[in-house]
Amino acid sequence: MTDTSGTDEAGSDHRIKAASLILRLRALGVSDRRVLNAMETVPREKFVPPEFADHAYDDRALPISCGQTISAPSVVALMTAQLDVRDRHKVLEIGTGSGYQTAILAKLARRVTTIDRYQSLVKEAEARWTVLGLRNISAMAGDGTAGWSRQAPFDRILVTAAAKQAPANLVAQLVDGGILITPLGPADGVQRLTLFEKDGEQVETRDLGAVRFVPLVAGVAQNL
Ligand code: SAH
Repeated sequence: MTDTSGTDEAGSDHRIKAASLILRLRALGVSDRRVLNAMETVPREKFVPPEFADHAYDDRALPISCGQTISAPSVVALMTAQLDVRDRHKVLEIGTGSGYQTAILAKLARRVTTIDRYQSLVKEAEARWTVLGLRNISAMAGDGTAGWSRQAPFDRILVTAAAKQAPANLVAQLVDGGILITPLGPADGVQRLTLFEKDGEQVETRDLGAVRFVPLVAGVAQNL
């Protein structure tokens, strides 16, 4: 007998939408199979507010709690692919938000450490990772602009909020050969996604294109 329960229908609907999103990402030039696989297996609908569940697989940023946003899937895919995350890597993410990007990183890396200035976002994200069985993530509420020196150095660092200037103190927390990606630019103006690669005393930078992120704000949020 065919099971037509609502949950199963919703589940297969999500799978179809996820599969068509993957096709769209491929068409946009994302070819890294590990990244595409991670994006296909992490259910984005679990990371967006219920009222936006129907749009979970649209390629667009969506609002989340605390006036923040979950990035568009194509931006997550691009950043993750450029970060070149390997399975032995220790990764630091600044800007947990919904915890979606964290979950993608956790599928690819050995360990992910993530920081958000809102305690409530960290708590909500932790509950989502638990449901999904992701156990290689440590999260804390705090000011990510200082990084996490106790756990440094990191193989990779991803900042998912726009900084006004190059984050020298975060680059200092990278291993030699490490890569950091961050949007750079004003909150309401042109931001460039920028890659920093540490090579001994040298740091090489590469422009990855125009993006739009919420600003990186110094300090821990007073409320929430
Ligand atoms: N990666 C997230 C999107 C994050 S939006 C996702 O996949 O959903 C940017 C996040 O950066 C917000 O949640 C905001 O609270 C956080 N943020 C801004 N300034 C910060 C800071 N100084 N330290 C830590 N987090 C910060």
